[in-house]
Amino acid sequence: MKKTIIMALILMLTPFIVASEASATDVNSYSNNKTLTPDLKITNVAVHGSVVRGCNISVKNTVTNIGNGSAGGFWVKYYLKTTSSSGSYLLGKRYINGLKSGSSNTQNTLLYIPTNMPRGSYLVMASTDTTNSVVESNKKNNIGYSSRITVVGPTYIIFDKNVGGDVLKNPDINRYIPKTSFATTIFNLEKSGSVMLKFGNGNGPKVLISAGIHGNETEANIAIMKYLEYIKDKSFNGTLYVIPFDIPLDTAKNTRFYHGQDPNRIANVAGSPGWNIIHFAHVNGINYLLDVHSGGEVTSKGLLNINTGTSNSQEVKWAHYITSVSGCVSRVQPLETGMVRAEAFKYKINTITMEVERDTASTIVYAAKEFRMIKSSMKFFQFPVPLN
Ligand SMILES: [Zn+2]
Repeated sequence: MKKTIIMALILMLTPFIVASEASATDVNSYSNNKTLTPDLKITNVAVHGSVVRGCNISVKNTVTNIGNGSAGGFWVKYYLKTTSSSGSYLLGKRYINGLKSGSSNTQNTLLYIPTNMPRGSYLVMASTDTTNSVVESNKKNNIGYSSRITVVGPTYIIFDKNVGGDVLKNPDINRYIPKTSFATTIFNLEKSGSVMLKFGNGNGPKVLISAGIHGNETEANIAIMKYLEYIKDKSFNGTLYVIPFDIPLDTAKNTRFYHGQDPNRIANVAGSPGWNIIHFAHVNGINYLLDVHSGGEVTSKGLLNINTGTSNSQEVKWAHYITSVSGCVSRVQPLETGMVRAEAFKYKINTITMEVERDTASTIVYAAKEFRMIKSSMKFFQFPVPLN
């Protein structure tokens, strides 16, 4: 009886012992003959938001290891290309520490579009393991493309190299202007001189906005920077030039005076900051000039100063439009020698000086008011092109 039980147990267990030995042998022979190999593949490249020169773009990208082995660390690089076979412009890269078999790594990667990137249609190419640090079963699937994107945005010009400064030293500028990639680009350029941004296709009116010739009127700068953020990716039938900080070194010091003089009374002196602006406007056939300030004793509605002797002119029509849309008021202000507006008047450039309250109210509230006034003043020209 006992023998029978033992024999039965041996018979029952034997197949299991044999089977387990056989499977162990199979695994050993498999790993001896085949190496486990990773295979990195770009499985998604997608661009979110508009693509503006001088700004960051967010590229959502995924790398997947479709091989049967783990990959160690590797780089992913990002390029702009006009076609898949054209030359590549390297935008940036990121490092992935490793990727197990079957797993993915997704990131919204921020990449900077240089200020001088030619406008037009591009593909974003992501390329994984460009340095060949991972041995893969297939190297031909390491590249992926986005759908077509359009690079838009202004032309950046260093306008007046004599007046550069760090505008972030001004507490209002530092506090109230959001430090987007676009604003940061402008702030950095201002150190080399005043910056001019040029927009538009040239088919229409030529307009120049000059802001903050007085460095202690930060509402003007905050308002125009807000307007620039609003228009940075938009199109224009015409040409719009914007100088957001006329004298960055004075903005840095929060002072009205340029080397001891009021810059808005020496625009008749060749080479002064105001003269340079009017000279540019004259030479380039500017039709309209908006001169943006803030100051004391301005009505809470906001104020436009216009020239005498301009009844029924384009200047008056322009001012009427702005007052009707934004609710500000306008008045005739006599010209004084060396004012930017006086110099512009000599060349028959339609000019408005815009003011909001600076001293007795909140900076941010009146900057927002001035932003709406600037926006309505540009709407007169159908700037930017209205979206349908
Ligand atoms: Zn002023």
